[in-house]
Amino acid sequence: MKEIKLFAPATIANVSCGFDVLGLCLDTVGDEMIIRKTTKKGVRISKIIGQDLPIETEKNVAGVAVLALLKQLNSDAGFEIEIYKNIKPGSGIGSSAASSAGAVFGVNKLLGEPFTLQELIPFAMEGEKLASGTAHADNVAPALLGGFTLVRSYNPLDVIKMNSPKELFATVIHPQIEIKTADARSVLKKKVTLKETVIQLGNLGGLIAGLYTNDYDLIGRSLHDEIVEPSRSILIPEFDAIIKAAKDAGALGGGISGSGPSIFALSKGKEIADKVALTMAKAYKNLQIDFEIHVSKINTKGIKIL
Ligand code: ADP
Repeated sequence: MKEIKLFAPATIANVSCGFDVLGLCLDTVGDEMIIRKTTKKGVRISKIIGQDLPIETEKNVAGVAVLALLKQLNSDAGFEIEIYKNIKPGSGIGSSAASSAGAVFGVNKLLGEPFTLQELIPFAMEGEKLASGTAHADNVAPALLGGFTLVRSYNPLDVIKMNSPKELFATVIHPQIEIKTADARSVLKKKVTLKETVIQLGNLGGLIAGLYTNDYDLIGRSLHDEIVEPSRSILIPEFDAIIKAAKDAGALGGGISGSGPSIFALSKGKEIADKVALTMAKAYKNLQIDFEIHVSKINTKGIKIL
């Protein structure tokens, strides 16, 4: 195989109560990438269509992630990467993660799969380090593995792919303002109280129990972020009103997608998720805020070869 074309999915990180540890993979939103073997050693980003992003290998997360993989193998192989970017950077649905994960997935396939999907996560995390300054895995893990993922530990890295209830759908609205992950991190408080920790742990456990028992109401009750959302939501226009509108339309619950400004809601069934989309959209239309909106089932496969 000399060339591979793939779909690199958008992802929702944090999922309310799982800051830096929970993530889920979307199905209807994502980039496309074409990766080719070349005779020239190293990595070249040959084309980026759709967004204005750095083309230099060391400044593009796709380039940095693949360089980390090749270094580990001590490989003399060469690759060029075309990125067809649909996920806007700074949207909070894992734009950088889609490129990092897609690039290492494609290169690994072209090299005859020296690494498992789990083993690719640390290389993709190098891309995240370039994008936001922190090598977090909560977007790259669901992009690579699909479904809901939990980063049980960062050191050593221990990522678990969890059950995804079949009727669970996500609605994601992206107000057209940009929040850089680095900025969204700077508003975080440095200290957390014991009381807040207890509330957060209860919800994290509840959400995971709900995923494994297909208990949609428990999932809804657990979609609460005691620690991060109160400081971050002030960066997002009409955050509380959008969440209320989503719940009024039947959503189980919702929160900030990744570091924002996208807001997500989870619903049981596509019909409700579509209704939630209409209600969220109406709220921003009334306020004359431009937005994009997506409805997606949970993508349990992750990256797909096209
Ligand atoms: P997101 O959370 O959607 O990934 P971030 O703000 O965290 O958005 O990351 C985007 C940053 O990464 C931007 O500064 C962007 O220029 C940089 N970047 C470099 N290469 C890429 C790429 N291939 N795709 C997306 N962002 C990239």
